[in-house]
Amino acid sequence: MREIGHFIGGKKVAGTSGRTSDVFNPATGEVQAKVALASVVELRAAVENAKAAQPKWAATNPQRRARVFFKFVDLLNQHMDELATLLSSEHGKTVEDSKGDVIRGLEVCEFVCGIPHLAKGEFTEGAGPAIDMYSIRQPVGIGAGITPFNFPGMIPMWMFAPAIACGNAFILKPSERDPSLPIRLAELMIEAGLPAGILNVVNGDKTAVDAILTDPDIGAVSFVGSTPIARYVYGTAAMNGKRAQCFGGAKNHMIIMPDADMDQAVNALMGAGYGSAGERCMAVSVAVPVGEETANRLVEKLIPKIESLRIGPYTDDKADMGPVVTKDAYNRIQGLINKGIEEGAKLVVDGRDFKLQGYEDGYFVGGCLFDNVTPEMEIYKTEIFGPVLSVVRAHSYEEALSLPMKHEYGNGVAIYTRDGDAARDFASRINIGMIGINVPIPVPLAYHSFGGWKASSFGDLNQHGTDSIKFWTRTKTVTARWPSGIKGGAEFVMPTMK
Ligand code: NAD
Repeated sequence: MREIGHFIGGKKVAGTSGRTSDVFNPATGEVQAKVALASVVELRAAVENAKAAQPKWAATNPQRRARVFFKFVDLLNQHMDELATLLSSEHGKTVEDSKGDVIRGLEVCEFVCGIPHLAKGEFTEGAGPAIDMYSIRQPVGIGAGITPFNFPGMIPMWMFAPAIACGNAFILKPSERDPSLPIRLAELMIEAGLPAGILNVVNGDKTAVDAILTDPDIGAVSFVGSTPIARYVYGTAAMNGKRAQCFGGAKNHMIIMPDADMDQAVNALMGAGYGSAGERCMAVSVAVPVGEETANRLVEKLIPKIESLRIGPYTDDKADMGPVVTKDAYNRIQGLINKGIEEGAKLVVDGRDFKLQGYEDGYFVGGCLFDNVTPEMEIYKTEIFGPVLSVVRAHSYEEALSLPMKHEYGNGVAIYTRDGDAARDFASRINIGMIGINVPIPVPLAYHSFGGWKASSFGDLNQHGTDSIKFWTRTKTVTARWPSGIKGGAEFVMPTMK
């Protein structure tokens, strides 16, 4: 059986802990590899490599650091098909979806090619007589990233690109469910000219995460995953004196006003609700039509589209969506659908029994649509993270607005309307981090910052954009006086010495 190890000191190394985890092909249910689960000793080996390499990298001028990313972007483009296929083989999503995953990460790498400009400091000439004041940004030292299974290309790059461009060394702990792509990305970074030891990939589970959170040499931790773990990582990192930004789960609503372009809204819901089998933190999982007539039109148009979704393995280039990631995920989703029925929601499209011929052991769930969902139901409160869309009928705009406002999560939200006043009011009042106006998945581009509110995010600074440069650097401010200003200028002495 193929074993996936770690990437430490510029090369692949085998695991030594003796612990491994199965990596499945979600379309067939077969175990295709075993991934090593690191011990504290292996994590320490990565930290020692990072520590040895980081000072020289930080002293490398920013244009040279940027050039590594120019080359890396080139390599990502050259290897796009290979990378997307590798990703799909462990995640299960379609190759087109996986290309999107890599491209979203690539865009962050393009963004950090501007690091000489992005990490420039500030300078005030003449803050006092012959006194200048300047602020500089210095790397944190060693940063770490802990990432989820659903975007094994994009999310590692959200983290390591700005961290490394800023002059840090980096330790990535990817999801143990699809660990191959992050290792391949690290190899390509070396090919692009990154010195060994600056980007290390340590595979593992809670043991590796806890080793990161308590390691005295790691200064900053970035996490993306489910909310309970995000909360735990944030608290533990902070208690150990580390800077942390932790992003959690979501329940993204889309409000459909009576004046919305219904075809546009329905098509948007299909992509945002069922794309990648609903395994996106920005997936729309709740549709909120305003008024009975809007709701009836919406449900009527959604049903045939959901019923005709093409579901297949990643090797089917015509498939709209693939399987979910693991048997556990499959069972959890099935359990939640059954719970929704018990609670009295109306399952108008039932994908529970979907089977794909030739792939009977794959983790395929057919598209599901619930109507008449109410806020007390478990399927409304919980992030299902599968191809299940809930319709909550609202009688007015105010009632629709109050639903995402009161929800625990605050990642993304969208409104479909032609009314500029309603859209403006919505964007201004809503307590959620990323808003779409006639855009279903409002993921900010690399030069803006990505992050939710409420239980979707812990910490102050977001991913990518200028926030990421702030997160991966520390500010140092220097006040300097030159000899010519000492006589007659500010006096920094005891009053009695004047
Ligand atoms: P997860 O929380 O299970 O795992 C995330 C990471 O934490 C993995 O690297 C995993 O190994 C590690 N981990 C798991 N259990 C741990 C424990 N007990 N202690 C320490 N570390 C642990 O998440 P997942 O299932 O891989 O990803 C799906 C979740 O991620 C969803 O909730 C989704 O909404 C969320 N997500 C959020 C965003 C965002 O930007 N807000 C983006 C993508 C995914």
